[in-house]
Amino acid sequence: MKLAVVGTGYVGLVTGTCFAETGNQVTCVDIDERKVEKLNNGIIPIYEPGLDVLFHRNVEEGRLKFTTDLVEGIKGAEVIFLALPTPPGEDGSADLKYILKVASDLGPILNQYVVVVDKSTVPVGTAEKVHAHIADNAKVEFDVVSNPEFLREGVAVEDFMKPDRVVIGTRSERAKGVMNRLYAPLVRQGNPVIFMDERSAEMTKYAANAFLATKITFMNEIANLCERVGANVDDIRRGIGTDSRIGKRFLFAGIGYGGSCFPKDVQALAKTAQDYQYDFKVLKSVMQVNYSQKTKLIPQIVEHFDGNLRGKTIAVWGLAFKPYTDDIREAPALDNIKALLEAGAKVTAYDPEAMENVRNILGNQITYAHTSYAALDDADALVIMTEWPLFRTPDFDKMNLLLKNKVIFDGRNVYEVDQMRELGYTYYSIGREAVN
Ligand code: NAD
Repeated sequence: MKLAVVGTGYVGLVTGTCFAETGNQVTCVDIDERKVEKLNNGIIPIYEPGLDVLFHRNVEEGRLKFTTDLVEGIKGAEVIFLALPTPPGEDGSADLKYILKVASDLGPILNQYVVVVDKSTVPVGTAEKVHAHIADNAKVEFDVVSNPEFLREGVAVEDFMKPDRVVIGTRSERAKGVMNRLYAPLVRQGNPVIFMDERSAEMTKYAANAFLATKITFMNEIANLCERVGANVDDIRRGIGTDSRIGKRFLFAGIGYGGSCFPKDVQALAKTAQDYQYDFKVLKSVMQVNYSQKTKLIPQIVEHFDGNLRGKTIAVWGLAFKPYTDDIREAPALDNIKALLEAGAKVTAYDPEAMENVRNILGNQITYAHTSYAALDDADALVIMTEWPLFRTPDFDKMNLLLKNKVIFDGRNVYEVDQMRELGYTYYSIGREAVN
């Protein structure tokens, strides 16, 4: 099939590349000229494991193209995906300006039946709005389908190629046929393509993200309570995660969720509830708890240094909002670095993939180390913000020589408490006994 993907970010580039991999002819459109130039020169602007192999193969074989020109990009396309940003507006609702702008632009340039697919995460009722914006100027028939994306950054290619399920919101039989054909190669193992109406599909995406954010937050509150009652949250996790009704995943306590999706999607769902005069109490609590959870270690750090961080150097391991990505949107590391700087500390940071993105925001307010060990040189303490596997089994002898003090604040429970006690570290983590 011939496809167009409008918006070539984390979702659009993975969508375009993976659909090219299943034999489709894909053109990705983006207004960011530098991004398109990079892509046309074979440079992938994001870090996503496994994407490079598929990207290069499909570009070389002529199935994957990039342009800034919407007219050229959608020429002959049977399906047009909208993978555009939906950032939070001032009132917390998802800002639809990117989506509706492209919808308006599409109307006059469509010249055959096409299925326009909302891949972005958009509030209930958006498919109708997109339809209306296109219809304003369209001379041909078209359908607007809601097809929310559930991929996770860091494993996006795998998630896309083998989705647990595909959700498609449409009441058009014609669009259903097109979407079934497109997704058939990805669901050969029998994972379901679930059809529903557009509003339910839009709501499904928010419900999924809000539920996962709630699960994380619930566990973080259990962790906070564990600290007070003298229990170990890791044991609780194992104790409840083995219950098949609960499941093992998303039970790791830490310094809260971040990223480009959970914070904004929880906020947007809360705003939808408010718009419909529904008091969604759980979501309000999730947002509040996560907000304070992110910088939960800061008071402990300040207290450890007798209330004064001036002149102290803090090493930070991990900047991305989670491992295997360079994405730093809403990353807890940023809130913590800001708090440390405000308290007068100097920060030396290391992340395997996200340092360039942080440099674009923080510039030389902090120092960027070339290796994880270089970040420790003469530091008064180490703070761990992202659980990159690299940090899990470091050379502690080497660390001891570099760090001024054997002090670790672990926001992701990367080490075992007993192990740190044996190594003679002062060790603070989440939901477990402090060693000091
Ligand atoms: P992104 O910011 O990485 O990418 C969006 C792209 O759209 C950018 O490259 C931008 O230049 C481009 N763009 C903006 N206006 C444009 C226009 N008028 N024409 C063409 N291109 C334009 O965003 P993302 O992370 O890929 O997210 C896109 C959507 O998918 C959001 O709604 C998000 O909530 C949703 N989503 C994201 C993820 C994820 O893990 N990132 C997962 C599922 C769903």
